[in-house]
Amino acid sequence: MMSYKVDIDGVSSFTADEGDTLLSAALRSRIGFPYDCSSGGCGNCRFELVSGEVSELWPEAPGLSARDRSKRKHLACQCLAKSDLKIKVRTGDEYLPAIPPGRITGQVSAIRDVTHDMREITIKTQSPACFKPGQYALVSSAGVARPRAYSMSNLPNDEGIWQFIIRKVPGGAFTAHLFDAVKPGDPLILDGPYGMAWLREDSQRDILCISGGSGLAPMLSIARGASGKKMDRRINFYFGARTAVDIPGPRDLDFLMGSQSPCTSKIVVSNPDDSWAGETGFVHECVERDFGSRLEDLEIYLAGPPAMVDAVQEMLFIRYRVPVQQVHLDRFF
Ligand SMILES: Cc1cc2nc3c(=O)[nH]c(=O)nc-3n(C[C@H](O)[C@H](O)[C@H](O)COP(=O)(O)OP(=O)(O)OC[C@H]3O[C@@H](n4cnc5c(N)ncnc54)[C@H](O)[C@@H]3O)c2cc1C
Repeated sequence: MMSYKVDIDGVSSFTADEGDTLLSAALRSRIGFPYDCSSGGCGNCRFELVSGEVSELWPEAPGLSARDRSKRKHLACQCLAKSDLKIKVRTGDEYLPAIPPGRITGQVSAIRDVTHDMREITIKTQSPACFKPGQYALVSSAGVARPRAYSMSNLPNDEGIWQFIIRKVPGGAFTAHLFDAVKPGDPLILDGPYGMAWLREDSQRDILCISGGSGLAPMLSIARGASGKKMDRRINFYFGARTAVDIPGPRDLDFLMGSQSPCTSKIVVSNPDDSWAGETGFVHECVERDFGSRLEDLEIYLAGPPAMVDAVQEMLFIRYRVPVQQVHLDRFF
């Protein structure tokens, strides 16, 4: 296997193996390379190529503007080294991986419907499932071009059980494969863990989890992680659904019943029919009604579609001035 040396501004360096993106290679080497989605969407892993040659996995990735491209900027999550490289990027300790990501092949051990368009897929690996609640893995399958990011919904464990809640996206390349072709016993490749929106165990603040659609997965993991320990922190769990049929059943949402910490959960439906008697509107509107200026006292986790995350961010940062270090989020590009 070919490997190349990547020099960052003459200050640090790492080795990129053939087939590994620059971002994964850097994080595996415990370099604090800035990133967020690992999916070409956010642009946080943008770097300047000073010398050497790279190949782009997704040349049109939206995380890079035409101006960026004209200035020799690239996305580390979408680049493979084709030679030794010199690059410029500002690394930071906040990006140091809590657990360096690794690649491992597992087998699908169970598939279960969560709603009409969401499924829980369980993958079993030989080695322990090491991640922090709220993190994600890049999942790939032989024969399908590129991996996609999926958040674990369960907790880390020694048995090697990785659970994901995946929504079928109309016209989506990877979810079509997962829903239509993958069956129990099939191998899937996991690369992870990635992501910074993990449960801050040492925070004393009450917790607020806000999710929309399949953003449920990492919020379940975080709430499970927090509720498994006897603490004085209250867990406030909010789930936004478009219609009542998009709400998972009690098996997926009643996990807080056994919580050792005080907790409340609310489901908010944005497009209700006459049969829905619960909260209505967008999920962040309900959160605002319930907390208002008390938002600044909370440790806040959120995940879901970019439009939902943008609306929540606008509320938290612009209207209520919540400190950024108290907010941990994943945008599902
Ligand atoms: C951090 C994170 C966590 C996520 N967690 C979950 C989760 O728990 N559950 C869930 O259902 N979804 C999750 N997603 C969304 C998921 O990764 C996929 O975007 C979604 O399943 C749709 O994939 P698709 O291939 O079916 O759709 P497509 O529309 O085919 O692709 C969707 C995404 O894949 C990437 N992509 C598209 N084309 C290319 C290409 N040529 N090369 C490289 N990348 C490409 C882009 O990011 C694009 O937005 C998460 C996303 C992120 C960023």
